[in-house]
Amino acid sequence: MEYIEDKKNPLEKWFEEFEKKRDSIVKRMGLKDPKEIADYFSYSNMKEQEKDFCPLYKKSEKCHNIDENELCCFFCGCPFYDFAKWDEKKKHYGACKIFSKHGFRNNYGYWDCSNCETPHTKKFTITYLKKLNKKKNNRSTPLTGKVS
Ligand code: SF4
Ligand code: SF4
Repeated sequence: MEYIEDKKNPLEKWFEEFEKKRDSIVKRMGLKDPKEIADYFSYSNMKEQEKDFCPLYKKSEKCHNIDENELCCFFCGCPFYDFAKWDEKKKHYGACKIFSKHGFRNNYGYWDCSNCETPHTKKFTITYLKKLNKKKNNRSTPLTGKVS
Protein backbone atom coordinates (compact mmCIF):
# COMPACT_ATOMS: atom_id res chain seq x y z
CA MET A 1 0.00 0.00 0.00
CA GLU A 2 1.36 3.42 -0.94
CA TYR A 3 1.82 5.80 2.00
CA ILE A 4 1.66 9.51 1.27
CA GLU A 5 3.01 11.60 4.14
CA ASP A 6 0.76 14.48 5.11
CA LYS A 7 3.18 17.36 5.54
CA LYS A 8 0.57 19.98 6.36
CA ASN A 9 0.90 21.60 9.77
CA PRO A 10 -2.15 21.78 12.11
CA LEU A 11 -2.90 25.39 11.11
CA GLU A 12 -2.98 24.49 7.43
CA LYS A 13 -5.20 21.51 8.18
CA TRP A 14 -7.62 23.70 10.11
CA PHE A 15 -7.77 26.21 7.27
CA GLU A 16 -8.28 23.49 4.68
CA GLU A 17 -11.25 22.12 6.66
CA PHE A 18 -12.62 25.61 7.21
CA GLU A 19 -12.45 26.42 3.49
CA LYS A 20 -14.17 23.15 2.59
CA LYS A 21 -16.98 23.80 5.04
CA ARG A 22 -17.39 27.42 3.96
CA ASP A 23 -17.16 26.83 0.22
CA SER A 24 -19.69 23.99 0.40
CA ILE A 25 -22.22 26.50 1.80
CA VAL A 26 -21.45 28.93 -1.02
CA LYS A 27 -22.03 26.13 -3.53
CA ARG A 28 -25.15 24.72 -1.89
CA MET A 29 -26.77 28.16 -1.62
CA GLY A 30 -25.62 29.20 -5.11
CA LEU A 31 -24.08 32.41 -3.75
CA LYS A 32 -22.21 34.41 -6.37
CA ASP A 33 -22.24 38.13 -5.79
CA PRO A 34 -19.90 39.47 -3.01
CA LYS A 35 -22.77 41.28 -1.28
CA GLU A 36 -24.95 38.19 -1.43
CA ILE A 37 -22.10 36.17 0.11
CA ALA A 38 -21.42 38.74 2.85
CA ASP A 39 -25.14 38.95 3.70
CA TYR A 40 -25.53 35.18 3.96
CA PHE A 41 -22.38 34.85 6.06
CA SER A 42 -23.43 37.57 8.51
CA TYR A 43 -23.39 36.27 12.07
CA SER A 44 -27.11 37.02 12.46
CA ASN A 45 -28.01 34.84 9.45
CA MET A 46 -25.45 32.10 9.98
CA LYS A 47 -26.46 31.41 13.58
CA GLU A 48 -30.00 30.70 12.33
CA GLN A 49 -29.28 28.94 9.02
CA GLU A 50 -25.93 27.18 9.61
CA LYS A 51 -26.00 26.32 13.29
CA ASP A 52 -23.04 23.92 13.12
CA PHE A 53 -20.67 26.28 11.33
CA CYS A 54 -19.38 27.81 14.57
CA PRO A 55 -19.71 26.58 18.18
CA LEU A 56 -20.32 30.18 19.31
CA TYR A 57 -23.72 30.34 17.55
CA LYS A 58 -25.41 27.95 19.93
CA LYS A 59 -24.14 29.93 22.91
CA SER A 60 -25.18 33.24 21.29
CA GLU A 61 -21.61 34.43 21.76
CA LYS A 62 -19.52 36.42 19.30
CA CYS A 63 -15.77 36.37 18.72
CA HIS A 64 -15.61 40.14 18.28
CA ASN A 65 -17.61 43.06 19.57
CA ILE A 66 -19.19 43.88 16.19
CA ASP A 67 -22.94 44.23 15.60
CA GLU A 68 -24.31 40.79 14.68
CA ASN A 69 -25.63 42.05 11.34
CA GLU A 70 -22.23 43.45 10.44
CA LEU A 71 -20.04 40.65 11.85
CA CYS A 72 -19.26 38.39 8.91
CA CYS A 73 -18.03 34.81 9.22
CA PHE A 74 -16.85 34.31 5.64
CA PHE A 75 -13.24 35.21 6.42
CA CYS A 76 -13.18 33.61 9.87
CA GLY A 77 -9.92 32.17 8.53
CA CYS A 78 -8.29 35.50 7.68
CA PRO A 79 -6.84 35.75 4.16
CA PHE A 80 -3.85 37.56 5.66
CA TYR A 81 -3.00 34.77 8.12
CA ASP A 82 0.17 32.89 7.28
CA PHE A 83 -1.02 29.33 7.95
CA ALA A 84 2.18 27.87 6.46
CA LYS A 85 4.41 29.44 9.11
CA TRP A 86 5.42 26.61 11.43
CA ASP A 87 8.85 27.07 12.96
CA GLU A 88 9.61 24.44 15.60
CA LYS A 89 13.04 25.95 16.37
CA LYS A 90 11.70 29.40 17.22
CA LYS A 91 8.35 28.03 18.43
CA HIS A 92 6.58 30.42 16.07
CA TYR A 93 3.31 29.11 14.67
CA GLY A 94 1.34 31.26 12.24
CA ALA A 95 1.90 34.93 11.46
CA CYS A 96 0.21 37.96 9.95
CA LYS A 97 1.17 38.67 6.36
CA ILE A 98 0.30 42.35 6.72
CA PHE A 99 2.00 42.72 10.15
CA SER A 100 -1.15 44.03 11.80
CA LYS A 101 -0.55 45.73 15.12
CA HIS A 102 -3.81 44.17 16.37
CA GLY A 103 -2.43 40.63 16.39
CA PHE A 104 0.21 39.24 18.75
CA ARG A 105 2.24 36.14 19.41
CA ASN A 106 0.81 34.39 22.45
CA ASN A 107 2.68 32.53 25.19
CA TYR A 108 2.43 29.25 23.27
CA GLY A 109 4.04 30.75 20.16
CA TYR A 110 0.85 31.01 18.11
CA TRP A 111 -0.09 34.16 16.23
CA ASP A 112 -3.26 35.31 17.98
CA CYS A 113 -5.84 37.38 16.13
CA SER A 114 -8.48 37.60 18.82
CA ASN A 115 -8.12 41.40 19.07
CA CYS A 116 -8.19 42.04 15.32
CA GLU A 117 -11.46 42.91 13.57
CA THR A 118 -9.95 43.46 10.10
CA PRO A 119 -11.41 40.48 8.17
CA HIS A 120 -14.65 40.18 10.16
CA THR A 121 -16.91 42.86 8.72
CA LYS A 122 -19.29 42.66 5.79
CA LYS A 123 -17.60 45.72 4.32
CA PHE A 124 -14.20 43.98 4.28
CA THR A 125 -15.73 40.79 2.84
CA ILE A 126 -17.40 42.61 -0.04
CA THR A 127 -14.32 44.72 -0.87
CA TYR A 128 -11.94 41.77 -0.70
CA LEU A 129 -14.16 39.46 -2.76
CA LYS A 130 -14.58 42.16 -5.40
CA LYS A 131 -10.78 42.47 -5.64
CA LEU A 132 -10.46 38.69 -5.96
CA ASN A 133 -13.12 38.55 -8.67
CA LYS A 134 -11.34 41.31 -10.58
CA LYS A 135 -8.06 39.44 -10.30
CA LYS A 136 -9.76 36.18 -11.27
CA ASN A 137 -11.09 37.79 -14.43
CA ASN A 138 -7.55 38.69 -15.42
CA ARG A 139 -5.99 35.35 -14.52
CA SER A 140 -6.97 32.19 -12.73
CA THR A 141 -6.94 32.85 -8.94
CA PRO A 142 -8.55 30.77 -6.18
CA LEU A 143 -11.46 32.41 -4.35
CA THR A 144 -9.55 33.14 -1.17
CA GLY A 145 -6.08 33.73 -2.55
CA LYS A 146 -4.07 36.69 -1.30
CA VAL A 147 -4.72 39.99 -2.97
CA SER A 148 -1.86 42.44 -3.02
S1 SF4 B 1 -16.07 34.95 12.67
FE1 SF4 B 1 -16.44 34.54 14.85
S2 SF4 B 1 -18.60 34.01 15.03
FE2 SF4 B 1 -18.01 33.84 12.87
S3 SF4 B 1 -17.44 31.69 12.54
FE3 SF4 B 1 -15.57 32.81 13.09
S4 SF4 B 1 -15.37 32.61 15.32
FE4 SF4 B 1 -17.48 32.10 14.76
S1 SF4 C 1 -3.80 40.08 12.81
FE1 SF4 C 1 -5.71 40.63 11.74
S2 SF4 C 1 -5.11 40.95 9.60
FE2 SF4 C 1 -3.44 39.83 10.60
S3 SF4 C 1 -3.86 37.66 10.22
FE3 SF4 C 1 -4.81 38.19 12.19
S4 SF4 C 1 -6.94 38.73 11.70
FE4 SF4 C 1 -5.76 38.82 9.81
